[in-house]
Amino acid sequence: MYTFRTSQPIKSSQVPDAMLEDIEVERALQIVLSTAHLLEGQRRAILDCVGYVLAEDVPADMDIPPFDNSAMDGYAVLASDTVGASSETPVQLRVVADLPAGYAHPTVVRGGEAVRIMTGAPLPPGTDAIARSEMTIRGDGTVLVTAPAKPGQDVRYRGEDVKQGDVVLTRGTPVRPAEVGMLATLGRRDALVVRRPRVAVLTTGDELVDPWEPVAPGKIRNSNLYSISAQVKACGGEPILLGTARDTVERLEAKVRLGAEADMLITSGGVSVGDYDVVKPVLARMGEILFWKVKMRPGSPVVFGEIHGKPMFGLPGNPTASIVAFEQFVRPAILHMSGRTALRRREVEATLEENVKSRPGVTNFVRAIATERDGQWLVRRAGEQGSAMLRSMVQSNALLIVPETASRLSIGDKVQVQLLDLPETE
Ligand code: AMP
Ligand code: MG
Repeated sequence: MYTFRTSQPIKSSQVPDAMLEDIEVERALQIVLSTAHLLEGQRRAILDCVGYVLAEDVPADMDIPPFDNSAMDGYAVLASDTVGASSETPVQLRVVADLPAGYAHPTVVRGGEAVRIMTGAPLPPGTDAIARSEMTIRGDGTVLVTAPAKPGQDVRYRGEDVKQGDVVLTRGTPVRPAEVGMLATLGRRDALVVRRPRVAVLTTGDELVDPWEPVAPGKIRNSNLYSISAQVKACGGEPILLGTARDTVERLEAKVRLGAEADMLITSGGVSVGDYDVVKPVLARMGEILFWKVKMRPGSPVVFGEIHGKPMFGLPGNPTASIVAFEQFVRPAILHMSGRTALRRREVEATLEENVKSRPGVTNFVRAIATERDGQWLVRRAGEQGSAMLRSMVQSNALLIVPETASRLSIGDKVQVQLLDLPETE
């Protein structure tokens, strides 16, 4: 018999499988979320807070707007001067100043007077309404007002948006561009936001070569290092690419030790029951396994545990199984650690466009194409469903969830669909 130059195979007997039963998807997610903890806050310049979650309440230090001001270009007037004004009987006022935004009028405006005013300029003392340009005819040092300006017309009052002391932004709020604008309005240079997890990603397998290397007989290109790291990035984590550990306990242990320095560790492959499947024994020795194998397809051989209080996932090696298992367990964990509360993809009810077979007893996640037509969702399979096949994952925009109890779904059935590539539901 020809022996290959690998290390000693691991015997499955070394692995404490007997203690661990296959568990339901929901139960597995609960265990994951109770292990993944909210990270601490860090101070970031407000522009760099976008996409993060606030870790502090932000009260208003002043009224917004800070003074009564004009909402339109026109003339600041005394409303009482303009009563009864019309095109036929315009009211003539003397223009005493021209006031752009950014400057305050120093004196009190009296009856019979007006100030030409631009949007955002403070309302001059004595005036109480704006006659917008369209209601006026400009003269030489005078203006004709051709319609009445009611008291308060086109005036924006001090504090009408935000009152001093209002807690406008609260801890736990995801920061979007609008929140960045509000932070600026509230006078902040920086804000406290939840730090994002640094996630170490490690692939296993003697067969793996980097994408740019020649593919010798028996070798395949390492896709999971990149797809997993991309998934980490896409949900706001910072991937740390640890590369590939050959299938030996020693090599893997060394890399896992390195990975345990991060906030989370993800390994790929080596979690089946093959002789070279080294992830479980290493995790069992260095930390604690909390579950192994979930009742789902693809993605059933997923190990989850803790090392030094940090979550560690052993994702399956098959490329699509890895992506689907990440979607169900790792993504919610990263979002949770980042302070988000909307952890799940949006799920919709859709009408099946074709018959779909599935394996009963496990939750099937079928790669699918979901389309919305007249407010109704339709869904069909995205192609060949082998868990090693990446192409149909590329073609899909959704996962069709076939419950454990179903072995066959028929055209026209109502089904649950997880929409990928969409922002999480609020
Ligand atoms: P394993 O779980 O290690 O037995 O791997 C299951 C299957 O996934 C095997 O066909 C592996 O060659 C393949 N596989 C494992 N890791 C990767 C990877 N990083 N990229 C692409 N395929 C992989
Ligand atoms: Mg392997």
